[in-house]
Amino acid sequence: MSDEGNPQQAPTAHKLQTPIGMHDILPDDHEFFTFIKKVVRHRARQCGFRRITTPILEATEVFQRGIGDATDIVDKEMYTFTDKGDRSMTLKPEGTAGVVRSYIEHGMKELPQPVQLYYIEPHFRYDKPQKGRYRQFWQFGIEIIGETDPALDAQIIDLANRINEDLGIAHLFQIQINNIGCPKCRTKYKEELVNFYIGKERSLCENCQDRLHKNPLRLLDCKAEDCRILAELAPKFEQYRCPTCVEFHTKLKGYLDELKIEYVENPKLVRGLDYYTGTVFEFWDKTEGAQNAIGGGGRYDGLTELMGGQPTPAVGYAAGLERIIGHMHKEGIKVPSKDDLHIFVAQLGDDAKKKCLTLLNQLRERGIKAVGALGKGSMKAQMRLADKFKVPYTLIMGITEVREGVVIVRNMQKGQQRPVPFDEVVEEVVKLIGEENLDKYSPGELLY
Ligand code: AMP
Repeated sequence: MSDEGNPQQAPTAHKLQTPIGMHDILPDDHEFFTFIKKVVRHRARQCGFRRITTPILEATEVFQRGIGDATDIVDKEMYTFTDKGDRSMTLKPEGTAGVVRSYIEHGMKELPQPVQLYYIEPHFRYDKPQKGRYRQFWQFGIEIIGETDPALDAQIIDLANRINEDLGIAHLFQIQINNIGCPKCRTKYKEELVNFYIGKERSLCENCQDRLHKNPLRLLDCKAEDCRILAELAPKFEQYRCPTCVEFHTKLKGYLDELKIEYVENPKLVRGLDYYTGTVFEFWDKTEGAQNAIGGGGRYDGLTELMGGQPTPAVGYAAGLERIIGHMHKEGIKVPSKDDLHIFVAQLGDDAKKKCLTLLNQLRERGIKAVGALGKGSMKAQMRLADKFKVPYTLIMGITEVREGVVIVRNMQKGQQRPVPFDEVVEEVVKLIGEENLDKYSPGELLY
């Protein structure tokens, strides 16, 4: 009989789990997330960037106009739905379009230019899940909006590289750069590319056949073997780049040399989004290449206008946190764990439990990370738990200790213990832990 037909019988519960391609960020993962966020925040702030957070959902048009209808992201990968007000909404697949929408909406053009913003947020793409490719992933991004100069592009690349250095993974990546031209020279090049491919469609993969007239530049970085062979033979953009774009690119390379940043020129690098103009760059895994790029970016001088604002040049970069963490694990990089506890408080009897509540607060106010097993009965069970928490010290309070006004301080490693007057125990613990190891909390410091 089916579960439905028998109201007495509980339905067989199927196992609930995270959606395909999405992950829980567990406490151990969060230590890495926190570390990366701190590095990004620190480096971005040093360069005058301020943090922005845009909604996780935007009107679908924000991405259609910005990223482009013909791109894989908009065409195939967006989480789009109609909300109860009959509006088409999309979970953001990338960060830049939302930031530019915000720049226009909040009149940031009136602020001193360029406006430098950074974000650290989750993004969503309905992609085929595989190693390093998920349907929900985190990116940090940095954007300089409002000015054009190759020195700004160099600064963005430098900042991205410095962040990788701080994370201990810069040596794993090679910086690939290209300049895909301005609308003028690129239009001419696109026409030539299409002409080259016409008549060769049957040698292209299905994807590229579809992209040929919509987004021909993407044919250059297709991974399919036949497409790669054709891309080698295709006309090179260098022959079409206008003098202004040539000068811009030459200057960028000069600035990168000045900053001693190594890079490789890759004429086939185009990036997946329509909004790029001029400079494009990616940080490629030295062993796996583009498959495992950690981040990429470029100049998007036409995006603000595409989205309804005044023409405003801009340049930016975004990198994936999960991929960064994957590389940090591979390199055996450890991040400081701030979650380790200092003190476990064990108690027995109602009076002791009451005292413990205050004691726990006093310890925490002083920066000592402390837990108590207030729901556990026996002292044995509590001490077992203290062992599991791997705390260096346990404070023990039973009926006798309450009566005598003391707390027993137990060194867990040595198995030695001694009584300390209740009023002195917090400072005694500070001495044992060391002032420098306390987890000091100052709301002022945490405000931002
Ligand atoms: P993109 O702008 O698409 O090149 O993305 C920039 C970076 O975000 C990539 O280099 C990856 O590190 C990360 N990223 C993009 N898509 C995904 C994904 N589906 N899963 C995990 N990370 C991603």
